[in-house]
Amino acid sequence: MLHEMRPHKRTAAHKSDCFGELVCSNSLKSEQINSAPWLLKQEMRRLDSLLLKAAGRARVPGGHALTVDREIFSSEITTAIESHPRIEVRRGEITEIPAHGVVVIASGPLTSDALAQDISRVTGSDRLYFYDSISPIVCADSIDMSVAFRASRYGKSLDGSDDYINCPFNKEQYGAFLDALLQAECYEAHIEEDKIPYFEGCLPIEEIARRGRDTLRFGPMKPAGLDDPRTGRWAYAIVQLRQENQRADSYNLVGFQNHMRFGDQARVFRLIPGLENAEFLRFGQMHRNTYINSPGLLRPTLQLKTDERIFFAGQISGVEGYAEAIATGLIAGRNAAALIHRDELPVYPRETGLGSLCHYITHADPRRFQPANITFDLLPSLDDAAKRRLRHDKKARHAEICRRAEEAFESFVNASSTGMHLEVSC
Ligand SMILES: Cc1cc2nc3c(=O)[nH]c(=O)nc-3n(C[C@H](O)[C@H](O)[C@H](O)COP(=O)(O)OP(=O)(O)OC[C@H]3O[C@@H](n4cnc5c(N)ncnc54)[C@H](O)[C@@H]3O)c2cc1C
Repeated sequence: MLHEMRPHKRTAAHKSDCFGELVCSNSLKSEQINSAPWLLKQEMRRLDSLLLKAAGRARVPGGHALTVDREIFSSEITTAIESHPRIEVRRGEITEIPAHGVVVIASGPLTSDALAQDISRVTGSDRLYFYDSISPIVCADSIDMSVAFRASRYGKSLDGSDDYINCPFNKEQYGAFLDALLQAECYEAHIEEDKIPYFEGCLPIEEIARRGRDTLRFGPMKPAGLDDPRTGRWAYAIVQLRQENQRADSYNLVGFQNHMRFGDQARVFRLIPGLENAEFLRFGQMHRNTYINSPGLLRPTLQLKTDERIFFAGQISGVEGYAEAIATGLIAGRNAAALIHRDELPVYPRETGLGSLCHYITHADPRRFQPANITFDLLPSLDDAAKRRLRHDKKARHAEICRRAEEAFESFVNASSTGMHLEVSC
């Protein structure tokens, strides 16, 4: 039984009633071989992930990233769930964790207040949320392509095409843009600005700009690897635009999440070269992000330590990002099924992407816990001999970590009878 509160009760970010709605960027991150996000997705594919199949069918050009048409992606998932003979969908808000039966809580970063309160009660936590923000989308027709140019960073794209639209700044343009950005007004948060607990991996651009005049140029506005065809050189700074849908009629400003007033966003972002006449289909917004302090609360099987019938998955379990949410959903779903079948619950090997993600959220320091994306930092480092042998070659080290993960994953899948024969895919 799957409970979904939309459309009866809406969140501040979802626009549709569909499942698997991607609320901000349309990227499921890198597909580059031997990168950490690629490794995680390969393992999910090996477990027959329904969502990654949907992503494959909804794919749009996005350089080396797996980017999708969000409407096709979520309609594929919605059709699969609603037409499944063994899934009953109930529309309506859940305000309390059910007292009986096996339960997977995957209510996301915008969990309704009533349920969040009950989760606080059950977990004994008083801190369940922090803040992050989403980036704006512009209409493709309104981008001035006599100024902007197409290119992928360092020419990296899966099929050799130039997937991103790039808006180049010279030094003066960058200075003027930064001044306007720093003066723009933000929507008032309901808590004091300096006490907002931001997620460091998804900072609003106005917050990044406040940290130093060059910080943006070395962050989301980094020009490196993008040759401007008109000058043959890298610009002083760049804003990248990524295709939103298969119709290619809208583009999002990569890394431009913010919570400025809409009028100020229009004024400031029209200072971006090439976006002087931009038509905005969506402005950036700030949102609440709910998660539990999983290191103190969850087992590596994603069960609550104090009540083994309750699982947490998705953003609320302490991971960050679409692919990571799908990964923990896949594990919690399989483990919930195993529990019902009274099978032993597997712990995914530490060397694998899935195992490392679960290990991080259940073993990090609970006093400083922040949700994490999958990165090589979460995977165990190589043994000393391999580290010495490959010390000058980062690519080879990553390839070796991925090879080791694949080996561990294959022996785990082959050795484990648990769950692997169940027809559960998330
Ligand atoms: C505004 C915003 C922008 C984001 N941008 C990005 C991004 O660019 N890239 C990225 O990788 N990640 C982004 N994230 C994080 C992103 O939400 C997660 O990566 C992913 O969507 C989380 O998936 P989930 O299944 O955990 O939650 P969701 O996809 O949010 O699904 C949870 C579902 O639970 C429902 N629900 C909530 N409470 C109840 C209740 N009490 N009863 C019944 N149903 C309920 C909600 O309606 C929702 O449909 C963003 C999050 C937000 C909020």
